Amino acid sequence: MKALVYHGPRQVSVDEVPDARIEKPTDVLVKITSTNICGSDLHMYEGRTDFEQGRIFGHENLGEVVEVGGGVDKIRVGDMVSAPFNVSCGHCNNCEHGLTNYCLAANEPGVAGGAYGFADMGGWAGGQAEYLRIPWGDFQCLRLPEDAREKQNDYTMLSDILPTGWHAVEMSGLVPGETIVIYGAGPVGLMAALSASIKGAAKVMVVDRHPDRLKLAEQVGAIPIDDSKGSPVDQVMEQTKGRGADRGAECVGYQAHDPQGNEDNALTINNLIASVKFTGGIGTVGVFIPQDPGAPDELAQQGKARIDFGSFWFKGQQMGCGQAPVKRYNRHLRNLIAEDKITPSWIVSHNLTLDQAPEAYQHFDARDEGWTKVVLNPSR
Ligand code: NAD
Ligand code: ZN
Repeated sequence: MKALVYHGPRQVSVDEVPDARIEKPTDVLVKITSTNICGSDLHMYEGRTDFEQGRIFGHENLGEVVEVGGGVDKIRVGDMVSAPFNVSCGHCNNCEHGLTNYCLAANEPGVAGGAYGFADMGGWAGGQAEYLRIPWGDFQCLRLPEDAREKQNDYTMLSDILPTGWHAVEMSGLVPGETIVIYGAGPVGLMAALSASIKGAAKVMVVDRHPDRLKLAEQVGAIPIDDSKGSPVDQVMEQTKGRGADRGAECVGYQAHDPQGNEDNALTINNLIASVKFTGGIGTVGVFIPQDPGAPDELAQQGKARIDFGSFWFKGQQMGCGQAPVKRYNRHLRNLIAEDKITPSWIVSHNLTLDQAPEAYQHFDARDEGWTKVVLNPSR
């Protein structure tokens, strides 16, 4: 089969690799019809992780079931399914508690949490390929309704970024009528903005500096805050009459940049602590990883960050963080799409073939204007 393979920093190509196949009775084999490029792929693509050469990218996968193992009895050949990016068994102590993001069976002993096409997340092959093996298929596959193909650009957001944006808002503790500031208008931040708005936020503010992305935030009713035009914290204070936002969401990650070039100001967590009110809450889904050999300063190389814990403590704030437990939310979010309550496809900028993936990675990595969310369609 054809798959997008990693060959070193910013070097990827579509190669012929051995076919994905059923390996265990609980496996499901899916022919991929859509698989998206994500900001998380860039951690590997840019060479910040120890992603091994030869591995296949892709954790945002949707497709048609073409074969099931002998132990699979719910999912059937022909079903259209969305696969959560978290690989999870359903039966370990964490999965039993709904923490499929920290499955104890999907990684090596002592490390919790698995994902397709990721460094340090269990070595599972990714789905930027013609076929994907889904382990524990009955538990993991989310069956999609009859309009799955027609609304594929909406349902394709269920594997990761829509539940992730939702999780950021959930962890912030938002209740209807509150205000929230979201740092990052990438695909994840935009999904957080959509989530906050359907969860009843009175005001949603989104910080970034790319006009095309800020415009997309405006399209779901958010107030765009352009941090190239001045301090984002001051702008949030202005919008909230000096009180600060009730809640905040971090949707950038540890590779945040400061538009004025002062990298000491770049850490979005500190901007969030400053932008959110006393006793407010923050949900951090932007990725921070234990080691980053390519980071500019020594602390970041060790996975450490200069977080203003003094202000955080003084203001009595709360923060949640980590990978999103996709399975906790994807059923409800699927139903919202099915009933046309939400159309997360508004951020899709490109539908491309697998052969076009290397070029798409270059554009998405450079944050080129108009390259917001790329959906690859390997079986087109
Ligand atoms: P992205 O890189 O396309 O978007 C990030 C956006 O942040 C960009 O538009 C960039 O201009 C903006 N930005 C950079 N520095 C900033 C700053 N200082 N202040 C405000 N905005 C700034 O990526 P994405 O696909 O939207 O993903 C965002 C993050 O979420 C990544 O770290 C990704 O790995 C992570 N993620 C986490 C989970 C999870 O489960 N926790 C799931 C998916 C993605
Ligand atoms: Zn993703």
